[in-house]
Amino acid sequence: MKKITYLILGVITISLSACKTDAKKAANGKLNVVTTTTMITDLLHNIGGDAINVVGLMGSGVDPHLYKASEGDVAKLVNSDVVFYGGLHLEGKLVEVFEKMEKTNKKTIAVSNALDEKELIGSEYFASNYDPHIWFNVTFWKQITGYVTNELKKLDPKNAAIYDENSKNYLEKLSKLDEQIKTTISDLPEDKRILVTAHDAFNYFGKAYGFQVVGLQGLSTATEAGVQDVQELSKFIIEKKVKSIFVESSVPKRTIEALQASVESKGYNVTIGGTLYSDALGNKGTVEGTYIGMFAYNVKTIVTALK
Ligand code: ZN
Repeated sequence: MKKITYLILGVITISLSACKTDAKKAANGKLNVVTTTTMITDLLHNIGGDAINVVGLMGSGVDPHLYKASEGDVAKLVNSDVVFYGGLHLEGKLVEVFEKMEKTNKKTIAVSNALDEKELIGSEYFASNYDPHIWFNVTFWKQITGYVTNELKKLDPKNAAIYDENSKNYLEKLSKLDEQIKTTISDLPEDKRILVTAHDAFNYFGKAYGFQVVGLQGLSTATEAGVQDVQELSKFIIEKKVKSIFVESSVPKRTIEALQASVESKGYNVTIGGTLYSDALGNKGTVEGTYIGMFAYNVKTIVTALK
């Protein structure tokens, strides 16, 4: 595995030095943007519109914690003008690739730069020392929208007015989403606002919208849940009379099913309340394939199942 990483890094170094002179090689002269997760890809589509080319590395259902760059990805990175990624070690296996790219003067931008460290939730699971699931607070996503807009304007000043206009429209939609989330959640009694999922992707959501959040696998899917974790969490579910627990689209179902079985073996019934989108959006072309659609869907699923 190490060998492949070095090979990829080597290819990046060679290819980057070979094509440093022609950054904008797209036939249409548009800025070539590469993104990592589907959330960031969607954001760039919204701000950049038709003025940029966007290539997303990860598709729907892809787990960013475990994602490794393929040879095809390296070609996309090499041909880009700028790379937007999550940061805070969200893309744990790509960190080396991005660091290498920075050394060759390739523009790489972590969207987490938009946030003040004081706003972040600490985590011992990540080398960054922070929880990287920052998209689950709409206020943060609005700050990130502003930050990405400014970066695009710096990179491509001739289209600044387009980016500003798109950004303004998108921020309005995000404000509406935030209102909608709060209204939907207000239907759920406060003592029922307990969210049990496969991995700890929802801490920012919990903090912003008043849920106690418990993930079976910890913050990163790179660590497996142990028997002890399952036992403790099943006791917690029974004690708190939690009605439903949730599967995630980018994490295998079996961990949550094991938890459900453990709860049942203790004589209590907990249902699986649905599949939440945590680290990836739904399929392209569907409502859940956008950040706004995904968030509204998650909240509706959670509230309906826990009521
Ligand atoms: Zn995650």
